[in-house]
Amino acid sequence: MNKSTGFNADANGGDELLPTVVPRAEHPISRAHISPNALKVLYRLKDAGYQAFLVGGAVRDLLLGLEPKDFDIATNAHPEQVKQLFRNCRLIGRRFHLAHVRFGMEIIEVATFRAAHTQIDEDNSVDEAGHRVLDAGGRILRDNLYGTIEEDVWRRDFTANGLYYNIEDFSIWDYVGGVADANARVLRLIGDPETRYREDPVRMLRAMRFAAKLDFTLHPDTAAPIRSLARMLDSVPPARLFDEVLKMFFSGSALKSFDMLQNHGLLAHLFPDLGAGLADPANTGAADLVRLGLDGTDQRVRADKPVTPMFLFAVLLWPAIKSRARRESPAVMTEIQALQTACDTVTARQMSRVAIPKRFTLPMRELIGLQPRFDKRDGRRALRLLDHPRFRAAYDFLLLRVAAGEVSPEVGEWWTQIQTLPPEERVGQVEALPPTTDSEAAPKKRRRRRRRSRSGSPSPAAT
Ligand code: ATP
Ligand code: MG
Repeated sequence: MNKSTGFNADANGGDELLPTVVPRAEHPISRAHISPNALKVLYRLKDAGYQAFLVGGAVRDLLLGLEPKDFDIATNAHPEQVKQLFRNCRLIGRRFHLAHVRFGMEIIEVATFRAAHTQIDEDNSVDEAGHRVLDAGGRILRDNLYGTIEEDVWRRDFTANGLYYNIEDFSIWDYVGGVADANARVLRLIGDPETRYREDPVRMLRAMRFAAKLDFTLHPDTAAPIRSLARMLDSVPPARLFDEVLKMFFSGSALKSFDMLQNHGLLAHLFPDLGAGLADPANTGAADLVRLGLDGTDQRVRADKPVTPMFLFAVLLWPAIKSRARRESPAVMTEIQALQTACDTVTARQMSRVAIPKRFTLPMRELIGLQPRFDKRDGRRALRLLDHPRFRAAYDFLLLRVAAGEVSPEVGEWWTQIQTLPPEERVGQVEALPPTTDSEAAPKKRRRRRRRSRSGSPSPAAT
C-alpha cells in the first residue's frame, strides 16, 4: 500500500493514493450478512456504471462479526443521478445532498464521495471560492465538495470506519490500515489527531462511544490530545450533543462510556453539575445510583427493551438536583417543591450544554417530584400514587435509590408488594400503617394545612 502523507495528501503535490485491496477470499465479509436492500442498491448503482461501496460502520461491524445497525453506501454517482435510479429515493440535506432509498422501515443512505477543501489560504480558513471553511479554532464550517473515493476516505474519522467494501468484486479497499486496526481492536484517528478533533470536537465523543461499544483501545495518539481539547465541546451546538449523548448512553455500553468520558476529562463538558453532585458528601449513594442506572440501561438495551431519555437524564441529573434541593429552605418549600425547583435550575444549566427536548424534561420533573411521596405510605393519598401516569418510571427510580442505599429497602419492598395486592386489600395496608412520623414530614403537614385553610384549596404538593 502506498504510504499516505495524511489528510489532504492529494492537495500537496499529487501523492498517488492506492488502497490495499483485500480480496474476498482474504476477509470474512459475506453477502449473506449484508441487508438485501443494501445489496439491491449497490448492484443497481454498479449496473448503471457507477462505483458503489458499502462504507463506514457496516464494514467495520461485519469485519468484527457484529450485526451492523444500518448500511451506508458511498458512490461516485451524484445525488440526482442516484435519484434517477430509484423510485423510492428522497434527497435530504440542504447544503449537501444525501440520497435516502427507502424500503419499508429500512432506509439505505447513499452518499456521494466528498472531498475536503483543497486550496486553502495561508491561514487555512478560506476555500477556493473564498468561503470560510474553518473557524478560528479549526472547526469545519463547510464540507460540501463532491470528490473521489481517494478524497472521501480522508474525511472519515477512524481507520476502522474508513473501509470500503466494493460490490464489483466483493473486495475491501483499505487506504488507512483500517483492517489491521479493526482486527487489533485499536481505534485510531485518520490524519493528525489534534487537527481532526479541532475540525469536529464531536469526534472525541465518538472515540469514547466506539471504544466502549466495540471494546477497542484508543491508540495513544488518538487519546493524547483529548484532555487538552475537551473544552472545545463547549462550542458544539447543544442539539447535536443531545443526539451524541443518546447514541453513547443507548449503545448498550453506557457505563463504560461514562467511565471513559470521566477518565478523559469530557464528562464535565457534557454534565456541568454532575461532578459536584457526585462529590457532595451529603449525597449518600449518588455515585452508585448513577452506575446502577447506567448498568440497568445497558441491560435493557441488550435485551431489546425500550429505554427513555427521561429516565436516563433523571439518573444523570439526580446527584446535582439533590445537592441543590438541600439548599432550599424547608421553612419556605415542601420537599417536593424543593426538588422540583432544584430540578428546574439544574435542567436549565444542563440545557446550555445538552439540549434535552421538553417532552423528556417535563416527565423527568414529574418523576423526580414524585420521589418524596414514596415516603408517605399512610392514608389513601399514598394509593393515588399508584394511578399517577408517571408511577411506573418513578417506582423504577425509587428502586434504583433503594439499590444505591439512599432509601431504606423496606420502602421499596412495600411499594413492590402493594402493587401485587387486589385494590380492595390495598386500603387495609395503608390504614394499618402508623401515621408518617419522619422528621421532615411533620412541619410540612402543618404548613400545608395552614395554606389550605388560607386559600381554601389543596396545595400543589397534596394533589
Ligand atoms: P454506528 O454503528 O454508530 O452507525 P458508524 O461508524 O456507522 O457507527 P455513523 O455516525 O453512522 O457511524 O457514520 C457513518 C460513517 O461516516 C462513519 O463510519 C465515518 O466513516 C463517517 N463519519 C460519521 N461521523 C463523522 C465525523 N464526525 N467525522 C468524520 N467522519 C464521520
Ligand atoms: Mg452507521
